[in-house]
Amino acid sequence: MMIISKTYKGKNIAVMGLGKSGIATVESLAKVGANIFAWDDNSENCSKLDKKNYNISNLEKIDFKNISSLVLSPGIPLNFPKPHPVVERAKSAGCEVIGDFELFFRSKINANVIGITGTNGKSTTTSLITHILKNKSINVQAGGNIGTPILSLDKIDSDGFYVLEISSYQLDLSSNISLDISVLLNIQPDHLDRHGSIENYYMIKKKIFESNKTSSIGVIGVDDFYSGKLYSEIKNINKSIIPISTKKKISGGVSVIDGIIYDTRFNYNIIDINNITNLRGRHNWQNAAAAYIVAKEVGLSNDETKSAFETFKGLPHRLELVYKDKKTEYINDSKATNVHATSYALSSFESIFWILGGRSKDKEIDPLFPYLNRVEHAFTIGESGEMFAQQLYGKVEVEFVTSLENAFHRSVDTIKKRKLNKSVILFSPACSSFDQFKDFEERGEKFRDIVIKYVGQYND
Ligand code: ADP
Repeated sequence: MMIISKTYKGKNIAVMGLGKSGIATVESLAKVGANIFAWDDNSENCSKLDKKNYNISNLEKIDFKNISSLVLSPGIPLNFPKPHPVVERAKSAGCEVIGDFELFFRSKINANVIGITGTNGKSTTTSLITHILKNKSINVQAGGNIGTPILSLDKIDSDGFYVLEISSYQLDLSSNISLDISVLLNIQPDHLDRHGSIENYYMIKKKIFESNKTSSIGVIGVDDFYSGKLYSEIKNINKSIIPISTKKKISGGVSVIDGIIYDTRFNYNIIDINNITNLRGRHNWQNAAAAYIVAKEVGLSNDETKSAFETFKGLPHRLELVYKDKKTEYINDSKATNVHATSYALSSFESIFWILGGRSKDKEIDPLFPYLNRVEHAFTIGESGEMFAQQLYGKVEVEFVTSLENAFHRSVDTIKKRKLNKSVILFSPACSSFDQFKDFEERGEKFRDIVIKYVGQYND
């Protein structure tokens, strides 16, 4: 089935970047009969496209005067650190530069559309909302920045829902954002190399609320400085904007305090999520609050929402409980690629044997200091390992042990020596994985393998 508008028939469209979403873009444009000029700087990606059906054209050489749109992959720099040469060529020839989300928003969509953005928690919230709606037997198509590329989703009827994870790059490449429910979870300085400045990143995130649908609603986390600022900027526009907080009771909005969801809009409706394993931690309370609002909008009762929460499986590599024995929980949080995400992980546990390090995006790890009383011992690894060990030195017991394997085995040995009854081995690196691994998934799988191998040995 086809999402893309038929108006692209016969148009010359350039597609730059042939990853998963680029290929989906080429295939759906081809189905409506567009003339496609596809390219990727990596020739391996070019070879993924069937040359019999598609034109592979070096976009650094073609004349953009005859091209009506350049559809850019979100991974390719639009403006920062500097525009990709193909973007510059397109722009100087007056050719618009857009992304696959823009093609989606320009097509005729009858179904409801929910969009979720934020620095952290997008995937978890998207999956949680999807799970809740499916549980209610609603026809859902979920994807975008997670899972299925947006243009590979099926067309659905007006009673169905698209649940879309939207990254800031995808927002940046869209100008007709049209959502029924817009969710912004938080804004933390991240990926600033690709966004120029925090101010620019803020303006891009703000676009999630630019829906051109009159009855749309907005949901916004207000716990960090920038999202709080954004809330005060938009709360008086004529749309319904619902704030969420995990720090304070909030009027006209939803708060989660000590694991209990309060809804001041409905006389303090209450859902207790304390015993829900896959929604542990304050960061997940924020995700749950956003999902609760969507559920309420769609007409679910609190009991229905709570039982959907209970069956939510969580996502791999996000505070994933790999194994639990009588004394120790083994937690894989490989997706925590910045200090902010790791601060939530630390705040979710006690007696922590913490493994951290990798390729650091943050120069300072001070935001983690308030949680160090929860940490028994830190083991640092990777490129940033030495620097992190120096920063933690004197505040908590810490050792630079280079590799994930060493860190795990040193944790296990230390737990044994200390004869602790309860402890958590938490792999929450606060860094990207690119110094030692292909991506955070490979890194998390490595951690999982180490754990499984170890517990397998003592279970034999
Ligand atoms: P994203 O898709 O935005 O990267 P994920 O749901 O994959 O977010 O979670 C990424 C990391 O951030 C994980 O380590 C997770 O534990 C943490 N996290 C999840 N939700 C939040 C939140 N609301 N605020 C802060 N950190 C979060």
